[in-house]
Amino acid sequence: MTVEPWFIVAMALSLAGYGIYLAGLRRHLLEPSRASWLIWAVATGVEAATYLAVNPGEPQGLVFAASAVACIIVTLAMWRRSRWTSPSPTETICMAASFAAIVLWLLLKETFWAHMLVVAAVPLGFWPTWASVWEDRARERSPAWGLWTMGDLATLIVATRSSGSGIGEYAYVMVELLCHASVWLMVGLATLNPLRSFGRREGGLRVLDAYLPANPFAVGETHLGKAVFAAQDFAEGQTIVRFSGRTVPASRLPTGLSGAADRFLQIARDRYMGPSGRIDDLINHSCSPNAGLRFTDTGVFLTALRAIVPGEEIAWDYSTTLADPDWSMICACGSPQCRGVIRAFAALPPEIQDRYRASDLVAPYLREPAKNQAA
Ligand SMILES: [Zn+2]
Repeated sequence: MTVEPWFIVAMALSLAGYGIYLAGLRRHLLEPSRASWLIWAVATGVEAATYLAVNPGEPQGLVFAASAVACIIVTLAMWRRSRWTSPSPTETICMAASFAAIVLWLLLKETFWAHMLVVAAVPLGFWPTWASVWEDRARERSPAWGLWTMGDLATLIVATRSSGSGIGEYAYVMVELLCHASVWLMVGLATLNPLRSFGRREGGLRVLDAYLPANPFAVGETHLGKAVFAAQDFAEGQTIVRFSGRTVPASRLPTGLSGAADRFLQIARDRYMGPSGRIDDLINHSCSPNAGLRFTDTGVFLTALRAIVPGEEIAWDYSTTLADPDWSMICACGSPQCRGVIRAFAALPPEIQDRYRASDLVAPYLREPAKNQAA
């Protein structure tokens, strides 16, 4: 078999797409749909095998086999990073179609129909990704979609130039081409521009530096309810998020608030900041926090107390803003240093007060010298 130049082009574009997509995944620039990738890993595996069975010896079959292996690698890489959510009806139907195809192929020897069933399953596998990109196209902003589309075009040329013909040969290539092109259109054709995907930073050439993280946070559930997790690295001292909300005088503070409902942050002796309705409302307390609130002339900023890695819950010590000696909240933060009850700053052990003071993570109205009122 002579090696067709278009075969090399198709293979190179497809694998370059997977390489760049993996790089984006590693750097948390993408937020792929796990359901889609699970379906694709199964479907492309079945597809590659049935395609080679229906069209034996065709070079484009090798492109599909390489894609299937790359697809499984991406799925495994992603699996470690995301939390499981139960599949939607669409995802379930697609998984069922993929498994039915395997049964048809292996048990009934109906290779042609197994192949066509997978062709029909491919657009179903794209559905969760289309829905996800529709919500926020930054989740899939990778040059990979353009590269895969071009790779499919090259594969189509390989298919037309090789001897065989028939619906079994073109259907899969066409479906893949249209699906990849649809996502490329949704995330923006300019994502293919290498000037946007390569950049210099910290003295070196970096892949995908032009892309901002889709979202620096992930909201999840812990034993205490909603919690905010890092979806990117934060360096020690780096600003994580600005706290915002309307200013409420102490005299107009709603009464009877406690626990999770109490989202009022004291910002001065006589003033509070109300909830913002945004991510800052959901950040929990910890007795051994990785972040703290820094009060500056320009606002209140949550700042990393130490390096924070993706997947870690972001938390700060509520006592660093508490002046009211009568306020308390039972703590179940789970830290080995848990104090059991969250009280006013003055009730903290003096060495802990000093540590927060040294990091400049104490509300300005609490910055008097340490004195232990707990005793
Ligand atoms: Zn605690």
